[in-house]
Amino acid sequence: MARNAKIQSPFGVDEWGAGYFAIGARGHLQVRPGGKHPPADLVVVVRRAMEAGLAPPLLVRFPQILESQLERLYACFDAAMREFDYPRAYRSIYPLKVNPLRPVVQSLVRAGRENAFGLEVGSKPEFAIALAQTLPPGSWICVNGFKDPPLLRLATAMAGGETRIVVVVERRDEIPMIIAESRLQGRAPTLGLRCRLYHRGSGRWEASGGETAKFGLGSAELLYAVDQLRREGLLSQLQVLHFHIGSQITSVRRIKDAVKEAARIYAKLRHRGVPLTTLNVGGGLGIDYDGSGTPSDSSVNYSMQEYANNVVYTVQEVCAEEEVPQPDLVSESGRALTAYHALLITNCESRESDVPIDYLPSNEDDLEEEEDEEPPAELLEMEEIARGITIKNFREYYHDAVVTRRDILTLFDLGYLSLKKKARAEQHFFEVCRQALAFAQQTGFASDEFRALEKTFRTKYVTNFSVFRSVPDAWAIEQLFPVLPIHHLHEVPTDRGILVDLTCDSDGVIDSFVDVRDVKEVLELHGIRDGQPYLLAICLLGAYQDIIGDHHNLFGRPAEVAVRSTGAGLEVEPLSRGESLDAIATLAGYAPDALHRAFREGLDALGSEIQTSEALRRYDELWKGHAYLETDRRQLGRVD
Ligand SMILES: *Cc1c(COP(=O)(O)O)cnc(C)c1O
Repeated sequence: MARNAKIQSPFGVDEWGAGYFAIGARGHLQVRPGGKHPPADLVVVVRRAMEAGLAPPLLVRFPQILESQLERLYACFDAAMREFDYPRAYRSIYPLKVNPLRPVVQSLVRAGRENAFGLEVGSKPEFAIALAQTLPPGSWICVNGFKDPPLLRLATAMAGGETRIVVVVERRDEIPMIIAESRLQGRAPTLGLRCRLYHRGSGRWEASGGETAKFGLGSAELLYAVDQLRREGLLSQLQVLHFHIGSQITSVRRIKDAVKEAARIYAKLRHRGVPLTTLNVGGGLGIDYDGSGTPSDSSVNYSMQEYANNVVYTVQEVCAEEEVPQPDLVSESGRALTAYHALLITNCESRESDVPIDYLPSNEDDLEEEEDEEPPAELLEMEEIARGITIKNFREYYHDAVVTRRDILTLFDLGYLSLKKKARAEQHFFEVCRQALAFAQQTGFASDEFRALEKTFRTKYVTNFSVFRSVPDAWAIEQLFPVLPIHHLHEVPTDRGILVDLTCDSDGVIDSFVDVRDVKEVLELHGIRDGQPYLLAICLLGAYQDIIGDHHNLFGRPAEVAVRSTGAGLEVEPLSRGESLDAIATLAGYAPDALHRAFREGLDALGSEIQTSEALRRYDELWKGHAYLETDRRQLGRVD
């Protein structure tokens, strides 16, 4: 049964799911949050969320996946250190930039308690939040990014406490500021240097590394920093060497090269008497979004274990050659910890509504059409083609139809054709295209022309979400995210389509889909049955998407739940009902009260035609809902 399902499924769950996703016996998408936790059926999650008064679009978080990923990361470094007899410790530091939302940070902080853990911040708000978390003694907070005196003043004031503050120098001009603060307060935080490596990452964030990178100190700047700190008597504070060559490094070779270069710098600085204890290898540990296991932009050609092995082995090797003691190792993996933990479930509202092919406009009140006007030859020809197309002649007939359509448009441009005749010709032309496409698929015929045609004729599923809010990287950098129905997964999909979102922006679409061998331009879907909901999950949204998402068209945050799966059953905890219109309007600079008042006063001025009380009531009603389409709850409740 399970094997059968696997063969049938075009969605690649086993490839990209990292063990966290599976298709259950009823054809429902399941999340297996790891460890001993029983699987969570997403259809049940939706039902439970609806019982709590929430509705799709629904952001579903699995805190247990955050815990599992953190455990995996420690386990991988543990195993690597054991395998290569590495005598020092590993610490995982979570960069807030990747997902600073409270439920995420709190889950990770809680999960990190058992091990050496820490947070990385790159701005003042992130620092303020990190300082207010309950971190166990010995935790680290690494301060990266651009720094100013207020930030450094606070970092210095916190020096020497139970939580170790590590200020990572990214730019030369930070050194005089750090020195000034330490003179003022008579103390200094632990210091790190971020080195700018010659070796770059790979994939989309390649430019984050390399000699022209935005952050980091080149060789001369490193030496300058060391000399300045030595002169100031602060060298003992300089304990960390750091690098970060960009996110989602797709190729393990690049990781190895970067670690080798950084380890060499570590060794050389040790030789110069810098008391470095720790090498921080930054982020970059990638996620296999498409399940291909290749160095393509949305994938990686290595596992988490290979990553850890390469880091540990390379540092070990360089330290042996250079005869310096090995450093403790720190990594700042954010994407790898968070990507799997969140997904968006939402409903397809409709397939694009074509006018039925056999629809012919009525003749009543038709002033345009001459009664017995002879249809032009081109129109008759188009009808002929549509009638005569077969699997044997489809290429030739399709080409004829393209030419005839051009002639028909010319006639229309010149005023020789009524709108009704043009409509008829188009109906027939589209029919020819559909038939030709179907025959091309049946015969396995592929050409650029037919691929382009297929792209034009992709069915659009109107889906209740905003790409810009929930999947911004699909738009911004064409990143792939796995999309699939959460039910009907034991049925063979009969349709192919793309997703269009609710924004009035033609970029608000998802039209590239994960595939092990390629990128798919259509997604296999099951069609929408009358009166039944069709729910999709967009998966692996936990890294960056949560916070990069924006308010385009004023679509706010969707409703949100946290799901925990225990032996006692499924806990579905509502986290948010979604961003209210009040909150969204406030964000855009409006005071909701003032809007209500202005609306009311405007109504009076509009005169007696408008039923003031009815309009006011409807205005309030709209205001109490959320931005997304409100779907019939009874219909949604029928999900199975
Ligand atoms: C963004 C960032 C990270 C996180 O990178 P991932 O690839 O998401 O793990 C780590 N360190 C620094 C300095 C960063 O800027």
